[in-house]
Amino acid sequence: IAGRKINFAAGPAKLPEEVLLKMQEEQLNYAGLGLSVIEMSHRSKEFGALLNETITLIRELMNIPENFEVLFMQGGGTGQFAAIPLNLKGNHDHADYIVTGAWSAKAAEEAAKYINVKKVFTPSKPYVTVPDQEKWVHDENASYLYYCANETVHGIEFTPTAPESHNVPLVADVSSNFLARPFDFKDHGIVFGGTQKNLGAAGLTIVIVRKDLIGKEQAITPAVFSYKEMIANNSLYNTPPTGGIYTTNLVLKWIKEKGGVEAIYATNLAKSGLIYSIIDESNGFYHCAVDKRYRSIMNVCFRIDGGNEKLEAEFLEGATKRNMINLKGHRSVGGIRASLYNAISLEETQVLADWMIEFKKTHQ
Ligand code: PMP
Repeated sequence: IAGRKINFAAGPAKLPEEVLLKMQEEQLNYAGLGLSVIEMSHRSKEFGALLNETITLIRELMNIPENFEVLFMQGGGTGQFAAIPLNLKGNHDHADYIVTGAWSAKAAEEAAKYINVKKVFTPSKPYVTVPDQEKWVHDENASYLYYCANETVHGIEFTPTAPESHNVPLVADVSSNFLARPFDFKDHGIVFGGTQKNLGAAGLTIVIVRKDLIGKEQAITPAVFSYKEMIANNSLYNTPPTGGIYTTNLVLKWIKEKGGVEAIYATNLAKSGLIYSIIDESNGFYHCAVDKRYRSIMNVCFRIDGGNEKLEAEFLEGATKRNMINLKGHRSVGGIRASLYNAISLEETQVLADWMIEFKKTHQ
C-alpha cells in the first residue's frame, strides 16, 4: 500500500493492512449501528457479542483447554508482574523465577513486593541463553514457577518446549510470541501478554488463567487486578479497553483466515530462518550472540562487524532509505533488532534480507 513503511518495531508493532482497512471501513458506522466500536457502551448487547466472539476466537486459535478462563485486563504485561503474585500467593511464602533476560528480571523485581522471590539459578549477563535445566534449584513448595517465553530485548525464546514445571503451576509471559507458534498449556497455570505486538493495539492485556488457581488472592489485591472479580464479571468489572478488544478481534479473524497458528508459525519460521541464515553465512560480519537452540523467531538481534556502531548506524540509515523503520536494537544492548511479528510478511522480510546482503557486499 502506497506510503506505508516496513515497520520492524518491537511493539507497538505493525498491524495487518487488512485489519487497518477493516477498521477504517467500520469507523463511522459499525455493523449498521451508526457509531464506531470505540463510541459504544461496553454494556451494550453488541459490544458483549464482540467480546464473547473475541474470547471464542482466541480459545479456538490457541486451543485453550476447558479448565482455563480468558480475561481481558489493563495495565500491560507490567501490571501482571504484580497481579500474578497478588493473585497466586495463597498460603505459599515464595515463588520460583527463571530469569533469562530483561523482562523476566523486571517481573521478578516487581513480584518481590508481594511474595518472596527465589531465582532457580543466578542470572548472568549478557543474556544469551537458557542455562542447563538440570542444574536449576527448584522448590516444590513454590506458589508458581515463572518464565518469559520470549525475551524481546535479547531475542531469546524457550524452544521447543516450556521449562520443566516440577509440580508447580507454570506462569508464562507470552507478550512477544503470542500466537506466533503452537502453545502447549500442559503444566501451565497462567499465560499472559499484552496485545501490542502480535495481536493488536496497546492497552489490552490477555490473561489466561487455570480455574483452580482463582480465589487465592491477597486481601490487598486491587479489584481491577483480581482474577476472581474479572471472571465473575466476564472482564466487565469496569470499562475495558473496548478499542483494543475490537482490534484484537479483527487480528484474530485475520490469523484464522491465514490458516491459523500452524500456518502463521510456518511463515514465522521462514522469515526468521531467512535472516538467521544470512547472519550465519556472513563469516562473522553479522553476528547473533544468542545460543542457537534458543534463537527467537520473533526478535532477531544481531551486531555488525563485532559491534561497530558506526557501521550499524550506516546500516540503519540505508534501511530507512529503503523504507524500513525501527530496526535499532534496544538501548540496553545496542546493535540491530528486527522484530518479525505475525503481521510482517515474508516479502517484507525479504526486503531486509536483500539489504543485509547488499550492505555486506559493500562494507565487508
Ligand atoms: N514482557 C515482555 C516479554 C515484553 O516484551 C514487554 C514489553 N515490551 C513486557 C513484558 C511489558 O509489557 P507492557 O509494556 O505491556 O507492560
